[in-house]
Amino acid sequence: QTAPTTRDVEIFDLIDQERDRQTFGLELIASENFVSAQVREAVGSVLTNKYAEGYPGRRYYGGCEVVDKVERVAIERARQLFGAAWANVQPHSGSQANMAVYYALLQPGDTVLGMSLAQGGHLTHGSPVNFSGFQYNIVGYNVDPETERINMDEVRRLALEHRPKMIIAGASAYSRILDFETFRAIADEVGAYLFVDMAHIAGLVAAGLHPNPVPHAHVVTSTTHKTLRGPRGGLILSQDAELGKKIDKLIFPGIQGGPLEHVIAGKAVSFLEALQPEFKTYQQQVIKNAQTLAAALEERGYRIVSGGTDNHVFLVDLRPVELTGKEAQKRLDAVHITINKNGIPFDPQPPLVTSGIRLGTPALTTRGMQEAEMRVVAELVDRGLRGEDVTAEVKELAGRFPLP
Ligand code: PLP
Repeated sequence: QTAPTTRDVEIFDLIDQERDRQTFGLELIASENFVSAQVREAVGSVLTNKYAEGYPGRRYYGGCEVVDKVERVAIERARQLFGAAWANVQPHSGSQANMAVYYALLQPGDTVLGMSLAQGGHLTHGSPVNFSGFQYNIVGYNVDPETERINMDEVRRLALEHRPKMIIAGASAYSRILDFETFRAIADEVGAYLFVDMAHIAGLVAAGLHPNPVPHAHVVTSTTHKTLRGPRGGLILSQDAELGKKIDKLIFPGIQGGPLEHVIAGKAVSFLEALQPEFKTYQQQVIKNAQTLAAALEERGYRIVSGGTDNHVFLVDLRPVELTGKEAQKRLDAVHITINKNGIPFDPQPPLVTSGIRLGTPALTTRGMQEAEMRVVAELVDRGLRGEDVTAEVKELAGRFPLP
């Protein structure tokens, strides 16, 4: 019996609607991107049909000879891209990559020092509503109230006071370079593991535009779908192959079942793309665009947290224009500019309201936009935030830069 051939009109109509939304809107969510047609082709391929519990050469199912090759290629390319001795490409998401690391390095009740969620850290770095906060004793470090940058002396002071078993470097909303070398020195001083979650900056790291954490950390995780521009998924890297073997077991059978070989194929394709010289040009433009957009918004009266950005993302403090993040998100959504409300350091507003928004340039840069367009985007964001209906201009600008 073949599968039913009746077209699922309902879902494919919704997919068309989403394609239109993406095509005619301005995507400024810092964690999003547009994958290439060949990445989408791999993810939509027959590889989705295959069960492959285990690892290449050690599977619990027959018929894995082809997916073994796919996964081996993905592992090799990941290692080459980031200069790592060991890689696991199976995590279904960044959160699952992080969970495997916690299980590999810690016992329940152990102390972990990570960046506070309210200051730019991620849920999996110890939020009380996340597994990381349920099982571990979390101590958060903040940015310096003056500079709004991580103060390594403060990280060291907290490490000496709390003696964590693991220190986490990495963030979801931090616009400055992370000093992995000093993080490692502090970890060594207190006998802690250094775990770097480079999810946001992985593409910049791959292009050599942000220091690579792999030589410094005991273990590094990433998502593959942000600046790295692959399919949605996770990745784990280490220089320590013995630790790697332990993490392999924690991904499968520890916390996952069969790997998503179609997604792993998509990851492999995106790693090959990231190994090309054009990828570096792209990431350079991502940074230039973020800096141009931040400066243009500053000229229009907005305050940029920490005064600017070294990477793909920045936070806008909306208090000078007397708006909340919640209201700003609503107004920009109405004109098809997609951003997210985001707490700023020491935000007086609660997390569902916030005083800020987070903006990033990986997605618009993939569409080919450059500095000139960023100045127009800043104007449209500003006018949209003031309540003007700029939908037609947003649509016209976006329409000139097709999706891959
Ligand atoms: N780590 C960081 C720093 C992130 O920003 C994110 C995603 O927002 C994750 C991990 C989690 O990734 P996922 O949404 O794939 O679970």
